[in-house]
Amino acid sequence: MNSTVNISANTQHYLALEEKYGAHNYHPLPVVLERGEGVFVYDVDGKRYYDFLSGYSAVNQGHCHPRIIASLVEQAQKLTLTSRAFHNNLLGEYEKYITAYFGYDKVLPMNTGVEAVETAIKLARHWGYKVKGIEPNQAKIIVCSDNFHGRTTGVISFSNDPLATTDFGPFISGFEKIPFNDLPALERALQDRNVCAFLFEPIQGEAGVVVPDEGYYKGIRILCDEYRVLMMADEIQTGLARTGKMLACDHENVRPDVLLLGKALSGGTMPVSAVLSDDEVMMTIKPGEHGSTYGGNPLACAVAITALQVLKDENLAANAETMGNLLRSELEKLQSPYITAIRGRGLLNAIVISHPNADAAWELCLALKENGLLAKPTHGDKIRFAPPLPVNKEQVMECVNIIAKSLQAL
Ligand SMILES: *Cc1c(COP(=O)(O)O)cnc(C)c1O
Repeated sequence: MNSTVNISANTQHYLALEEKYGAHNYHPLPVVLERGEGVFVYDVDGKRYYDFLSGYSAVNQGHCHPRIIASLVEQAQKLTLTSRAFHNNLLGEYEKYITAYFGYDKVLPMNTGVEAVETAIKLARHWGYKVKGIEPNQAKIIVCSDNFHGRTTGVISFSNDPLATTDFGPFISGFEKIPFNDLPALERALQDRNVCAFLFEPIQGEAGVVVPDEGYYKGIRILCDEYRVLMMADEIQTGLARTGKMLACDHENVRPDVLLLGKALSGGTMPVSAVLSDDEVMMTIKPGEHGSTYGGNPLACAVAITALQVLKDENLAANAETMGNLLRSELEKLQSPYITAIRGRGLLNAIVISHPNADAAWELCLALKENGLLAKPTHGDKIRFAPPLPVNKEQVMECVNIIAKSLQAL
C-alpha cells in the first residue's frame, strides 16, 4: 500500500497550529477546508472535494445553502439572543412551525445534540415519577449496546465504547443496555415496571450505519404501548431527510413519544437541537427545572424554520432515497474484494473494509482525499458515505468512479 499524501506547506501551517494549540480530542484527515458550497468543500489551496460526511449529517441541505444563510444574516442583524428570561418574537413562531411540521404538542429547544438527549432523559424520569408513578429515584431507561448519543458525563454513562468511557468515571446509574435490533430483549427488559423509557437510534450511525430489521420500529411501538414506556427516538443523525424519509421512523409509519433532533436542524450553521413530545410528557417540566441560555434564541429559531422549509421545498427526502439506492447499487457493481459490506438507507451509508493492513480504511480515506472526495473511517474498518442531500445522479456516478480509482491504491 503506497497512497502518497500530498500536504502543501500552506496546509501544513494550519495543521501545525491545531497540533500545538488545540486539544487532541479528534484525529482528522490532513485536509484544511475554507469554503463550502452545496455538495462541495474547498481546501486552503483551492482544491475541490465532494463532502461525503456532511458534518456527520449536519449539512443535509448542502453547504452554505443560500436561503439558510440569508435567514442567518438577516436575523443576525436584528436580534440574536435574549435568554429565556424574556420572550422574543421568533420563539413562538418557531415552536408553532416545528410542532406542526412533526405533529407534536410541544417542543423544548436546546443547542447541541447531546443536550437534547440529556433533556429527553430528564423528561422521561419526570414523566416516570409524576405520571407513571415510579418510586423516587428508581426510574430506569433502556438503551442499546453500541449506542452513540453524545459526550456528556451523563450520556457516556450508558456507552459501551471504551474510548468514550475509560478513565471518565464515576458514571450515573439508571440505565440498562440491551442489544440493538432485538425485540425479545426489549420485552424482557420492560418487565421491570420502573422502566420509564426506551432510548434508541433508528439506525446506529457511529456504530457504522447499522440498519435494523424491517418491523423493528413497529415492534418497539407496540411494546412501549403495552408496557407504558416512552419510545424515545434519537433522530439527531437519521432525521431530517437523511435516510430517504423526513424521519427514519417514518419508514414504518411509527411515531415516537419523544423525538430528538439536532445536526441538520440548522443546516450546519450553528448548534440547534430540539426535543418534541406531547403535553403528557412535556408539561411535567415546570419553570426553573431545566433550560439553556442559548436554547430557543431568535437566531436559531429563524435559521431552523428555513432549514426545515428547505428540506420540503427541495424534496430532499425523495432525492436521498433515489440517490442512496443508486450509490449502493453502483458500489455493489464495483465487486471490490476489499469491501465486505455495503449498507445504509437513503444517503446514510457505510462500507466495511477488509484488508490485511489494519489501517486500510484510513489509507483508503487518504486516497479518496487525493482523488477529491472526503470521508472518514469509524471504528477502524467502516467508512461512512453520507453526502449532502442535493447530490445529483452525475455527481454520484463521479463519486463512484473516485471510489473505484481509490480502491486501487489498496
Ligand atoms: C451527533 C449525535 C449526537 C450528539 O450530537 P452533538 O451535537 O455532537 O452533541 C447524539 N445522538 C446521535 C444519534 C448523534 O449522531
